[in-house]
Amino acid sequence: MHELGIRIQARRLMAGGLTTRATAARLGLAYGTVVKWRRHLPSDDAPACPLTEAHQDAWCSAYLYLLGQYLGDGHLVTSTRVPVLRLYASTDYPRIIADVQTSLELLRGRDAGVVNVRATRRMVTLQSYWKHWTCVLPQHGPGRKHERSVVLLPWQRELAAAHPWPLIRGLIHSDGCRALNVVTTNGKRYSYPRYFFANESRDILRIMGDCLDTVEVPWRFNRPNSISVARRDGVALMELHVGPKC
Ligand SMILES: [Zn+2]
Repeated sequence: MHELGIRIQARRLMAGGLTTRATAARLGLAYGTVVKWRRHLPSDDAPACPLTEAHQDAWCSAYLYLLGQYLGDGHLVTSTRVPVLRLYASTDYPRIIADVQTSLELLRGRDAGVVNVRATRRMVTLQSYWKHWTCVLPQHGPGRKHERSVVLLPWQRELAAAHPWPLIRGLIHSDGCRALNVVTTNGKRYSYPRYFFANESRDILRIMGDCLDTVEVPWRFNRPNSISVARRDGVALMELHVGPKC
C-alpha cells in the first residue's frame, strides 16, 4: 500500500492527461498499481476514491473515529456486490449512535447511505454500503480480527499520529468502558473514574497503546486482553477528550 501523497500525485498527473503507463513511470510505480488506482478516479456518476484526495481535519477525525469503531466491534462484509460496513451500538448510548451517524455522513458526503437497523431492543446496527470501504479499511479480511494480523498502514498511522483522540474515542466507544472505582477512606467514600479497553486482538490492543502513548496517557495491561488507564493525569485527559459513554 502506498502513501496517500503518492496516490494524490498519481491522480493529478492522470487528471492532467498523462497516460497510466507514463504516470507509473514518472512515480516509479508498478503499472498494475496505477491501473487499480485509476478505477477509483472520479467519473461523471461517482465521486472520487477518498484515498486519491487530500482531506480536511474534520474528515480525518470522522474517519479515525469510524476506524476505531470498526477495529473495536465493527464488521466489513466484502462478499456483497458493494461492501457493507456494520457498526453496533447499545440503545443506552444515543450520543454514540449520533456520533457514528454524523461521522459516516461526514466521511461519505451527500451519499452517506446510512441505514439504521434495529436488531434488538438493546442494540442498534448502523450499516453503510460503499465501494470504497475496502480502500479506507484495508484491515478487512477473512476470519475474526483476533485470528489475523491487524496492522495500520503507513498512511493510517500518519493520520492517527496527527489526530489520535478520535481513534481513541472510537475504540473506547466500541470496545471500551469508563468505570467508577469507589474507595472508602476514614469512613468517606471517594469515586475515581477509570478507563478500560478490552479486545481479543493483540494487534488492536497495540494500536490503542500506541495512540495512548502519542497523547502521553499512561496505561497498563490489567489483563492479557485489556488495557487500563487509571493514573490521575491520564484519566483527566481521557475525561476531557472521551468522557462517559452516553
Ligand atoms: Zn477507493
